[in-house]
Amino acid sequence: MINIGGPKSFIMFGFNKKKKIDSQSAPAGDLAMDQKPFEIIIQNIEDGVVLFDSQGTLKLLSPSAEKITGWNTKDAVGINVKQVVQLVNGKGEAYADADNPLMKILKSNNPIRDNEDYIMSRSKSQVAVSLSLSPIINEAGATTAAVAVFRDVTQERAQDQQRKDFVSTASHEMRTPVAEIEGYLSLALNEKVATIDEKARGFIDKAYASTRHLGKLFQDLLTSTRAEDGSLVDNPVVIDMGETLEKLTDGLKIIGQKKNLLTEFVIGSSTLINATSENGQMLKPFYYVYADPERIEQVINNIYDNAMKYTNQGKITIGLTGNDKVVQFYIKDTGVGIPEGDASHLFQKFYRVDSTATRTIGGSGLGLFICKKIIELYKGRIWVESEVDKGSTFFINLPRLSSQQAADLNSPNTIKPTAKPLDK
Ligand code: ADP
Repeated sequence: MINIGGPKSFIMFGFNKKKKIDSQSAPAGDLAMDQKPFEIIIQNIEDGVVLFDSQGTLKLLSPSAEKITGWNTKDAVGINVKQVVQLVNGKGEAYADADNPLMKILKSNNPIRDNEDYIMSRSKSQVAVSLSLSPIINEAGATTAAVAVFRDVTQERAQDQQRKDFVSTASHEMRTPVAEIEGYLSLALNEKVATIDEKARGFIDKAYASTRHLGKLFQDLLTSTRAEDGSLVDNPVVIDMGETLEKLTDGLKIIGQKKNLLTEFVIGSSTLINATSENGQMLKPFYYVYADPERIEQVINNIYDNAMKYTNQGKITIGLTGNDKVVQFYIKDTGVGIPEGDASHLFQKFYRVDSTATRTIGGSGLGLFICKKIIELYKGRIWVESEVDKGSTFFINLPRLSSQQAADLNSPNTIKPTAKPLDK
């Protein structure tokens, strides 16, 4: 018996070969006589179980773990767990230590769950796994070992992919006729090309609004499935966020006016903004980021659209600030606000706040999910701060490029990441 992590958590090593236990040959009462319950569980559990110490040295490999990894206990015990449980991402890439959940757990006091990864078996085949890691903590509060439990989810992953493919194909196929209907309805409403009476105009107006809504829903479904499986293609370039936001605000102002909402653009609150040059003139800082302008525009339009939907009076402020590492932009409204309990869920797929405002205002709950995926694509962060009846501010941080980095990326001699077409 080896004692790991203090007197309460002892683990026994060196099992006999798996014993067949069924209700006829071994009544439940007999099991404890020749095997400890713990051993019975480890020997028979369908999930793979491994135990490793604070150095990552593998101490135990259950029979199911042997099956999934293709390693046997004799060869595996004593070597590093990373070699036996070779985790790779969806692209088949191995993890650096800093990102490998098996290493991260040894520095953590909390369990880690992971449903996206694969185990590369000893025979080099990839097995989709759902992984759960638990730290073993001693009485002093230090993580002295960890247990990893993993399940082969090849079938579930395949079914999930089929479902995503279906949603993606269906929304793609339906978007085209809906766009056509939208186009014809828009022509019917255009006084220069069609003559209709007022009653018909009222009906067509409604049909046009609903068709636009449907078209947006299909587009959002398509984008979100692509964002989920990592196939959201983009064409990143160097963007000056100051210029981009200023231009976008000009267009959004007109949309806001339809609801009598003022839209303003502010650059400020950073010390960098107020930096002056030697001759005393204000220096305009360049807030460079590396992203696809259309994707960034998509994010801003979506958040602005929400700000407008959920604000009845006041103004919407689009702001820009930052420091030498980060560019921060935000969209602040004076609207209905978001209850505290809902704020952390807003970026989940299909999540909508259940309130009078949202029940009367249409939406799919996909917009912010897509925004988060896009911002994460550029290694950024998005979050919201809000107070009910006062308003909400959506913040976005993106890594900032120095002027030198921006110039290098813009240089014709620089090899840039391959540009891919947008999934329009
Ligand atoms: P949708 O607006 O299509 O429902 P989103 O993902 O864009 O989907 O937003 C999710 C939910 O977040 C909305 O349904 C709404 O409840 C809430 N929300 C988003 N933006 C705001 C805002 N500016 N003010 C109040 N609530 C908001």
